[in-house]
Amino acid sequence: MSKNSDNVRRTQAYFVSMIIVLMLLSFITLLQAFKTYKERGYMDYLSFALSISAITLSVYMILQIKTKPPKTGFEQPEVFTVIRCSKCGFEITRKFKEGDYVLKEADPCPKCKESTFIYMIFRKANEEEKKREHYEL
Ligand SMILES: [Zn+2]
Repeated sequence: MSKNSDNVRRTQAYFVSMIIVLMLLSFITLLQAFKTYKERGYMDYLSFALSISAITLSVYMILQIKTKPPKTGFEQPEVFTVIRCSKCGFEITRKFKEGDYVLKEADPCPKCKESTFIYMIFRKANEEEKKREHYEL
């Protein structure tokens, strides 16, 4: 786990240094374009446009990295089991236990003492998935 996050950090550091180099080169190009303009009264629009877009892209990428939430490793998804009484329809939701499966018989109904069964097993969406769903809407 920690080895993995170390690798991620190293990749990120490498990525950031690449962006910084790109940014520096763009600045130099931009300065060069201004210098040419000052000296010869001629604007190198291509260099100007390229360096501006490279700088914008670099800033955007750095912001992307910084706003990324730090990964805390694999998050155990929350799984729930819904148990239902076949007679009165009483329902209870509890955390999933190993060995649970749909239609498996469960403890007798606390209301009518009839047999109950596992009606549904579902996984609660974690925060990241909720956000993703929100974007898709
Ligand atoms: Zn019942």
